[in-house]
Amino acid sequence: MKPHNFSIEFFPPKTEEGARKLCATRAELAQLKPLYFSVTFGAGGSTQQGTLDTVLEIQREGHLAAPHLSCIGSTRAQLREVLQGYKANGISRLVALRGDLPSGYGGMGELRYASELVEFIRAETGSHFHIEVAAYPEMHPQARSPQDDLQNFVRKMKAGADAAITQYFYNADAYFYFVEQARKAGIEAPIVPGIMPITNYSQLMRFSDMCGAEIPRWVRLKLASFGDDSAAIRAFGQDVVTDLCRRLLAGGAPGLHFYSMNQAAATKAIWQALL
Ligand code: FAD
Repeated sequence: MKPHNFSIEFFPPKTEEGARKLCATRAELAQLKPLYFSVTFGAGGSTQQGTLDTVLEIQREGHLAAPHLSCIGSTRAQLREVLQGYKANGISRLVALRGDLPSGYGGMGELRYASELVEFIRAETGSHFHIEVAAYPEMHPQARSPQDDLQNFVRKMKAGADAAITQYFYNADAYFYFVEQARKAGIEAPIVPGIMPITNYSQLMRFSDMCGAEIPRWVRLKLASFGDDSAAIRAFGQDVVTDLCRRLLAGGAPGLHFYSMNQAAATKAIWQALL
């Protein structure tokens, strides 16, 4: 059983070698027929050209592409220009975010929260874009409380978002509870779980510390016990994440969004195991 709302995320490559690799990754993952590929955007516009270039390549290859757009560190005029560029290039989907500023970056920009960005996009471009926003089943790390974070999520959806993609998590109950709370607050739009394949223990721990995703103790202990045995880490990671995806889909998740990290193998293996 294949969900309709299946998407795969890339980041814009920084080198020619990275671009060649991403092209091969895309060709492999395109065989899985995702609904769209999304491409991340560095806060303050640091990857603006790379995001656009990657999105245009994806479109040339005949696939639907959604650039991410973050507002922190940018002025309204800069965001307007980016939106006009996307529109002129036939782009019709966006993932709208606040973003995180790299340390040492100067100004905060003119919009403080993703809800303001969604309002701005709607004011500037009406219903042209299908807009997805971020959701945090385990709470955004800067939120005052889960209740506050939920209210902020609701505000962002009501500002005009069509759907949401979650931060990654390994605890299906956190997702189901979050969706239930969002439904009670009147949000009917799809909330697609974000899925991070497990391929590298230290990288996973680093990312999870930054974004506040919890790695269950038993998963952490097991991964640590494999040491440098990357084949064992990948095999165990595939089991854990495939099982998570099965539970999410069986429990009514409308699809899956894969954080591919520009690698094909893990996403492909999980997806094929779900068929
Ligand atoms: P917001 O929704 O604005 O929330 C940020 C914080 O502010 C939360 O704690 C929220 O509770 C709080 N808040 C919101 N509104 C208010 C208010 N009115 N008053 C008080 N507090 C409020 N980052 C990038 O830089 N580039 C990317 O391409 C990118 N892609 C992502 C894709 C997905 C699917 C996800 C889940 C995350 C992505 N991120 C990306 C990371 C994201 O930018 C960070 O998690 C960032 O810290 C928050 O962005 P947001 O859009 O969720 O912010």
